[in-house]
Amino acid sequence: MRNILIASSLLLISTLSLASVKIEEELYVLGQKPEVVKDLITAGSVEIDHVTSQGFEIYGRKGLSSYLNSRGLDHFDMKPITKSVLADYPSHAQITSKLKAAEAKNPKIMKLFSIGKSVTGKELWVMKISDNVEVDEVEPEFKYISSMHGDEITGRELTVTLIEEIASKYGSDAEITDLVNNSEIYIMPSMNPDGSERKQRANANGTDLNRNFPELSENGTDLNGREIENQFVIKYQKTRQFSLSANFHGGTIVVNYPWDSTYDRHPLDTFVKELSLGYAELNPDMRNSTEFAGGVTNGADWYIVKGGMQDWSYFFFNDLQVTIELSHTKWPSYSDIPGFYKNNRDSMIYFMKQVHHGAGIKFSKTGISGTVGIKQVSPVAKDFGSFAFNSSEFYKVMPEGEYVFSVKTSNKTNKEIRVSVDKDKIAQNGNYTLVD
Ligand SMILES: [Zn+2]
Repeated sequence: MRNILIASSLLLISTLSLASVKIEEELYVLGQKPEVVKDLITAGSVEIDHVTSQGFEIYGRKGLSSYLNSRGLDHFDMKPITKSVLADYPSHAQITSKLKAAEAKNPKIMKLFSIGKSVTGKELWVMKISDNVEVDEVEPEFKYISSMHGDEITGRELTVTLIEEIASKYGSDAEITDLVNNSEIYIMPSMNPDGSERKQRANANGTDLNRNFPELSENGTDLNGREIENQFVIKYQKTRQFSLSANFHGGTIVVNYPWDSTYDRHPLDTFVKELSLGYAELNPDMRNSTEFAGGVTNGADWYIVKGGMQDWSYFFFNDLQVTIELSHTKWPSYSDIPGFYKNNRDSMIYFMKQVHHGAGIKFSKTGISGTVGIKQVSPVAKDFGSFAFNSSEFYKVMPEGEYVFSVKTSNKTNKEIRVSVDKDKIAQNGNYTLVD
């Protein structure tokens, strides 16, 4: 009888080898490494997340728990805990009210808009924060996106609190005022409001949104087969010139830098690690991590993720992105949120300011698009390849050094421009060279 049961669970698991895993069971395997379920991972029938010395999360279809039992793998169901603890958190409607209140408090620098609606019709809110907020200025563009895993809720609360703090301190706090005056900041507290409302990882269709972005071998703007939430983020990314961003998760405490999907080193490996260490150093739980040296990790070295937002963001859009895990548990008590904000507030501000660690070009005419080939000439020679731009502006976050930009535009401009990134220029907040 037992053998028959095991055989039928195996059959169930083996027939699940679809392109995208449907999440029906959310489990935590204790005291093991993902190698124990390597066959399931290879078959593409489960997803793994948050691997630590304690164990790992595993997501898959109905039958996964009994299958793990049949293999004697000690595990528990995360769902009942998520449901009970997350019950104390604000609803989507309450988050919407908080965002509208922040906008109303300081409408000169805050503009709330929706990039589209979730599967069940909830607005996907983004707050634009900048001086002259109604105008698309030539300023470095930064973004935060949180909680594309609906149950990883800490980041939604922290980004909303950050928006509220900026709304109330603009004009009186010099650091915040300077940042807002010289940058365009876009904050999306909830990419998966349906998942958060249902207290689950996936969206309303049971899909993990952070495995649903185009892979590096695919077309980066292809909407086919993508969930609606991903489609709106892809379309939105195309309209902007983001050069630095982070996405927030929960389940452990670490800054995860690219790449996630390949063991190759990222072209900005040393630099993006420095930025990640900068975030972690200001956060006591990160810098004192016993799990991750310095509170940071290379993504693939931790575990491979394909179809994630982080790699897609830089590879197709020159938008350098890290993934920030904010809390050991995905479901901290709501009363612990102020403590998490205290631990992350300076890090969040620090990371936004790093958008000025770069150089750009601008044009006097509007509507110019083209490409910029980038070669670093000092202190090391390095070819970063070519990047597309539109809206008559281009900007790249880069390490300190001297660079040559080879600018080609649709109206036949073909110019080589030398730019530099150094301490003085970073402090000036807007390092743009006028091309024509
Ligand atoms: Zn996550």
